[in-house]
Amino acid sequence: MTTRAVAWVALAASTIVLLCSGAIGAIIGTGAASSCPPPSPAVSGTSPPRSGPPTPNASQRPVGRWTSEQVTNAATIVKVGADLDVPRRGWVVALATAMQESSLRNLPGGDRDSIGLFQQRPSQGWGTPTQLADPVYAATRFYRALLQIDGWQNMPLTQAAQQVQRSAYPHAYAKWEDDANALLQAVGSANWRAIPDDLEQCVSTGGWTAPLRAPVVSGFRTVERPGHDGVDLGAVRGTVVRAASPGRVVRIRCNAIDVRDGDDWGCDRDGDPNLTRGCGWYLDVGHRGNVTTRYCHLLHEPVLRVGDRVAAGQPLGYVGSSGRSSGPHLHFEVHVGGGPVDPEVWMRDHGAPLGITAGRG
Ligand SMILES: [Zn+2]
Repeated sequence: MTTRAVAWVALAASTIVLLCSGAIGAIIGTGAASSCPPPSPAVSGTSPPRSGPPTPNASQRPVGRWTSEQVTNAATIVKVGADLDVPRRGWVVALATAMQESSLRNLPGGDRDSIGLFQQRPSQGWGTPTQLADPVYAATRFYRALLQIDGWQNMPLTQAAQQVQRSAYPHAYAKWEDDANALLQAVGSANWRAIPDDLEQCVSTGGWTAPLRAPVVSGFRTVERPGHDGVDLGAVRGTVVRAASPGRVVRIRCNAIDVRDGDDWGCDRDGDPNLTRGCGWYLDVGHRGNVTTRYCHLLHEPVLRVGDRVAAGQPLGYVGSSGRSSGPHLHFEVHVGGGPVDPEVWMRDHGAPLGITAGRG
């Protein structure tokens, strides 16, 4: 664990007091607990493995609204990031940036003298027009600039992208985060998607994995909070939240009420611990055996749809602070047969303990 990570964990544990609520319907618990590698704090980006990056020159299939050309450019951006040993978070920042700047098209021109996927400008020292027209060169320059920014891995996507791009519209980047993650999943081979520090690799034989690796900052139905039907995991805004087990999305909803007048507070802004009621943006996943998991206070409306199948470890959304919340965290619930159970006990019994139980060097 790095010094920064240690400091962050201490900060999170000491300062976050979290409030939230929720209720689901759902029975039966199964799944043998098994050994999962010691978890490591995946608070920020992690290094990708060196094996098996995608082949950028091969034409990629369209994904959703993204054409073959756009997906192929995405694959190039990811490949360059993997080759440069940029942590995975950086690939997402790069993809979201290129989505905003060029819609993932290698544009011959643009605003003023901007060129290419990232709309970099020769006059600003990014390279010659010929160089910037090469997606590999353009992506390389983007990553090099990103890696120069101290603490970029702990920044919200918008802030990291803005510091590289110095865009006139910095807030436009964030809206691409879900698409960037979805495309990242699509262009990767199964080989390098199983990133060493990635929770996707840490699925128990019972099929469970922690939704994220973060300290438990508030427990299930404590003396102080007997109505708290889940656990709170303190994590930085934008941390990826993953499905705890395979299943199907059964609910996506915004629930944030202004307690003063009963009006809708909205979920696309932070809630308030005193003035807001509800889970904010939340998502429920139904699993085998009448088990449901709930993920609250998400940053954006999830890109998934009700009915979508999800794999254990598949990204569902991002840590935010929507609904009744005093700071970014994930409120996580497990319901068995219609009633909430202690997620810490459930996850431990299913081989996927919550919290940070081991560090890494
Ligand atoms: Zn909570």
